[in-house]
Amino acid sequence: MVDSEKYDKVAGRLLVVDDIEMNRDLLQRRLERRGVDVVTAASGSEALEVIRKGGIDLLLLDINMPDMDGMTVLRVIRETHTDSELPVIMVTARTDSRDVVNALRDGANDYVTKPIDFPVLYARIRTHLSRKLAMVSLRESEERYALAMRGSSAGLWDWDLEKDELFYSARWKTMLGFRKDQLGDGASEWLTRIHPLDRTQFDECLSEHLSGKSLQFECEYRLRHCDGTYLWMMARGIAVRNSEGRPVRITGSQIDDTEGKTLDLLTGLPNRMFLLAQLQRALERARGLGGLPLAVMFLDLDRFKLLNDSLGHSVGDLFIAEVGKRLHSVVAAAEFSEGRTVPLLARLGGDEFALLVSDIEDDNLVDGLAKSMLSALEKPFVVKDHSVVVSGSIGVTMLSEAHEQPEDLLRDADNAMYRAKAKGGGSFVYFDQSMHEMAVERLEIETDLRHALLNDELDVYFQPIVLVDTGEIEGFEALVRWIHSERGFVPPDAFIGIAEEAGLIWALGKFVLERSVAQMALWRDEIPAAHSMSISVNVARRQLARRGLLEVVSETLAKHGLPPQALKLEVTESTVMGDATQVKKTVHELRELGVAISMDDFGTGYSSLSLLHQLPFDVLKIDRSFISRLPQEVQLVKTILQLAEGFGMSVVAEGVETKEQLELMRKLGCKYAQGYFFSRPLPASKATGYILQQTTS
Ligand code: C2E
Ligand code: CA
Ligand code: CA
Repeated sequence: MVDSEKYDKVAGRLLVVDDIEMNRDLLQRRLERRGVDVVTAASGSEALEVIRKGGIDLLLLDINMPDMDGMTVLRVIRETHTDSELPVIMVTARTDSRDVVNALRDGANDYVTKPIDFPVLYARIRTHLSRKLAMVSLRESEERYALAMRGSSAGLWDWDLEKDELFYSARWKTMLGFRKDQLGDGASEWLTRIHPLDRTQFDECLSEHLSGKSLQFECEYRLRHCDGTYLWMMARGIAVRNSEGRPVRITGSQIDDTEGKTLDLLTGLPNRMFLLAQLQRALERARGLGGLPLAVMFLDLDRFKLLNDSLGHSVGDLFIAEVGKRLHSVVAAAEFSEGRTVPLLARLGGDEFALLVSDIEDDNLVDGLAKSMLSALEKPFVVKDHSVVVSGSIGVTMLSEAHEQPEDLLRDADNAMYRAKAKGGGSFVYFDQSMHEMAVERLEIETDLRHALLNDELDVYFQPIVLVDTGEIEGFEALVRWIHSERGFVPPDAFIGIAEEAGLIWALGKFVLERSVAQMALWRDEIPAAHSMSISVNVARRQLARRGLLEVVSETLAKHGLPPQALKLEVTESTVMGDATQVKKTVHELRELGVAISMDDFGTGYSSLSLLHQLPFDVLKIDRSFISRLPQEVQLVKTILQLAEGFGMSVVAEGVETKEQLELMRKLGCKYAQGYFFSRPLPASKATGYILQQTTS
């Protein structure tokens, strides 16, 4: 049920005017549950009294009331408040289409019909409130102010279907930038201006209503302004029918909804769509004669997802709104010379913001803005009793020849932002062309990898893990291999990370697991000496974090008849670090099944030790960087071995390349080793040969 869902608080206060108590209560209760602040009045005169006291942002006004009816109340209100100062939504009976026309003519902003369709009402309330509040808070930017004004009242139309005459109010015409006398009265004035992509939908909505299939005509679509740009319009109307039920005329209103489409409700800032439109214009200006440099800055909060997951989305939303406010104040505080365009701050979605800086005269301006934005975030945020500290990462791109579309600038700024993140966050980075090339390369790898997964272009190699004392084979580590038709051998380090980000790791992991388990089952069946060997398979964080890994593992084992004890899963520290409940749950369940867990690359992260306390590992693999630095690192390796013993884990020395390294590890009492000294990773057939050779000689 919709009612039980949680809604965020809606800014602004609504006054509900209705003479019937039950209606008032019902509306109040349902709207309050959705976060709308509601006050009520039982009559027109009471409503006027409440409005006089102030603090009302929107009115929901019933037309049919005894004493003073809604129309009268509306006219009194409009003597003192314009439709943008106090928007009014009329509530009318469905049959009274005349009422609607009159109300709109007298300054109502919108209407709903009885019986009230609640989700529709709620959506309208949100739109009007956000528009009203946006106007108040965004007055400083003239362009947006003009946009808000343009959307503040409705244009009217009245279509005589029998004579095929269409009358437009003056407002209808001025919304499109025409004077009263510049547009005629025919239907073509309207229909030919509809965006080609929206025309079919428009016609369908209209004929559905005229044929009686829908209660009212309602269509959101794009209409061409006289300057050639398109505005988003919301047109609504009701047909008047003759005694036979045939429609003879249809009358309605149209509001400019562009702002509703271009404003981010949470922060009150312009959204991505608006930014891109402005960017297009700025780009043209910058490219023109005497155009000045232009920059796009892309800001993203560091580790925001963690905050959102731990404190909940409603706190996350409040927090984003606060961030928006702080960033806005940075821009508002910056000083610009007369006639220069003030930077445009927009929210792109999630925790992403962008700043468009055009007409740059001062070389230090962009640096200054980036620094101020970063430091504006430094002070802790207090949201619903939580004190939160964050930092942001900013990527900056300056307009260059390489940018054709507005999106190109955003993309490059986004790329640079990732660089800033990779540096650890809290900083800003300028884009350079090499970043673009890297990003293109990443994308190519991603595309090719998808292809490779579908077309069986991946392979699995096996590297022996041996007993230090005897050289006997304990088992193998499975390592994925990709021979690309053009690039040749692509090392796993170059595509595992991309596979994780692109959501391909699940398919890749399944493939490797299937191959590895099948191969080990085969060896154990066919070669007596392989009877007690195990197979180690690497798993990435995304695999463990997703539900269902346990099922995949146990099904694969069952399919090939391999006992769980013959499988080890290798995870790295970063895989299990942090507050990852699902990851930990899966690790425990896998162990219960009998699968062993190895901690891979031990010692390369910073919280290895504390992790050992939190999670049970069966095997610890000392990272090859320590082995390669033997004998200098001997003390550290000794400590790791003691530690492992204390926790009852067996240890594998990774990357043993020389006899000296092996001897030293033997002296230190390390039981297992893996490395080029014994063998490089081998394709399955060669690994079979290796087993046979080792066990028969
Ligand atoms: P890893 O798990 O630490 O795997 C060991 C890596 O060390 C392998 O590199 C192996 O070829 C290399 N190596 C083994 N002995 C020696 C030696 O004596 N000297 C040197 N210099 N290197 C040695 P590889 O195959 O390039 O794999 C790199 C990483 O890619 C792996 O590191 C693992 O993290 C990841 N990876 C490989 N296959 C898979 C897979 O199937 N799934 C997942 N999730 N990750 C995989
Ligand atoms: Ca490994
Ligand atoms: Ca390793």
